[in-house]
Amino acid sequence: MPAHPARGPGSPRDHPGSPAVNTTPHLLIVGAGQAGAHLAGSARDQGWKGPITLIGGEPHAPYTRPPLSKTFLKGQTPLSSLALRSDAYYTQHRIDLVVDEHIDHIELAGDGTGTATAATGRRWRFDRLALATGARPRHLPIEHADLDGVLTLRDLHDAQALAQRLTTATALVVIGGGFIGLEVAATATAAGVPTTVVEAAPTLMNRVVSAATAKIVATAHRAAGVRIRTGVRPLRLRGTNGTITAVELDDGDELPADLVVIGVGAQPRDELARAAGLHCDNGIVVDAHCLASDGHTIAVGDCANLPDPSPASDGTVRLRLESVDNAVEQATSAAGTLTGLHRPYRSVPWFWSDQGNLKLQIAGLARPDDEIVLRTGRRPGQHTTLRYRGSRLVAAECLNSPADFLAVRRALGEETPLPRVTAADTGLSLKEHLAAARTPR
Ligand SMILES: Cc1cc2nc3c(=O)[nH]c(=O)nc-3n(C[C@H](O)[C@H](O)[C@H](O)COP(=O)(O)OP(=O)(O)OC[C@H]3O[C@@H](n4cnc5c(N)ncnc54)[C@H](O)[C@@H]3O)c2cc1C
Repeated sequence: MPAHPARGPGSPRDHPGSPAVNTTPHLLIVGAGQAGAHLAGSARDQGWKGPITLIGGEPHAPYTRPPLSKTFLKGQTPLSSLALRSDAYYTQHRIDLVVDEHIDHIELAGDGTGTATAATGRRWRFDRLALATGARPRHLPIEHADLDGVLTLRDLHDAQALAQRLTTATALVVIGGGFIGLEVAATATAAGVPTTVVEAAPTLMNRVVSAATAKIVATAHRAAGVRIRTGVRPLRLRGTNGTITAVELDDGDELPADLVVIGVGAQPRDELARAAGLHCDNGIVVDAHCLASDGHTIAVGDCANLPDPSPASDGTVRLRLESVDNAVEQATSAAGTLTGLHRPYRSVPWFWSDQGNLKLQIAGLARPDDEIVLRTGRRPGQHTTLRYRGSRLVAAECLNSPADFLAVRRALGEETPLPRVTAADTGLSLKEHLAAARTPR
């Protein structure tokens, strides 16, 4: 990707040939989710003077998604407390929030200005565009996935439908043993719905945690009553009168089901960017300043493919991060790009998942072949799996161990060395080991 110096608002170079400098450029943010909402507020806080329009395709003001597969599904989080900001916040920050408008076309000029058109025909001119379009559930190419009772979970509408179905379901099959699938399975089982998780890989959460952590998690779910089938794939879905009745597996088994949740990952919503001519490859390709390939358009959150922001990274590895932390931190950095502060996005990525009684917190990014040091905590259910690449600590997977999580997250940010042999010594807590490592001798 070419290097494109970021330019602040109002720069004459933003409008080549224009006799007058536009001192109140209009920032248009498409996608009113976690990243878009944070970008709007952060841009205003960091000094964006011109109008800001935040457009979302859903009929709601920006809300937080993590509870959708957890407390909201249990009925413990009321709808009203999902909102990311109060209505007054948008007014006070002079953010024009437009909901229920799906942008389906963008005309983008070479200087980053352009026009966005919604499905309803409404149009917005912009001086600067930010895309925060998020992701959608990955499609599972399986026969009869359109049967009634087969759901995915990405937005509030999906969560409301699932919560409703759970009140009458007698047999749930969750396809996909990743974070969302396991959260749903734990919630449904606790609510008394017999649940089976079907995972094609040999272990749960295969792409994101070590086999050691996955094994502990699987044991805990089984103990709570979740049935888990790994190493098998759903072959086809069966139904009667258009409604799901069973999931047929590739090992010949058939699981009866009156509810199926497909949770096999998410895909970036980058079609608008592609059509506008921006470089996309598993998401909208951006640099460390959140600039897309035209050097003007910003892309943030789940839709962006970015250089690994970890402090120890050389930035050559590209990835997409699907987490609240990434949406917020990347949006903060992007706001700096828009307002001329130009702070590259550097941060220790982190993520959490609540699955029944398990609180999983992950700091840093591990690769499948990174080695492990497993520490079992003093209280039942407490485990921390440290991931090492050679002699370097690169990540930690913490189960019910928030103190370890905080200690490692800080250590990764400061690049505090923690030799493997030290880490394996459970006589001291990780916090104590790391404090000792920081103390000058
Ligand atoms: C059920 C669930 C549970 C999760 N749990 C956790 C968790 O425990 N911890 C964690 O860190 N992360 C969790 N995540 C991930 C986290 O919610 C996402 O990483 C985060 O929401 C990404 O923010 P975003 O703004 O990039 O995308 P989103 O929040 O998806 O927002 C994108 C918005 O853009 C809108 N949009 C898209 N295209 C258009 C268009 N053309 N016009 C107008 N609007 C458009 C979409 O409708 C959507 O509202 C969870 C996600 C889900 C779905």
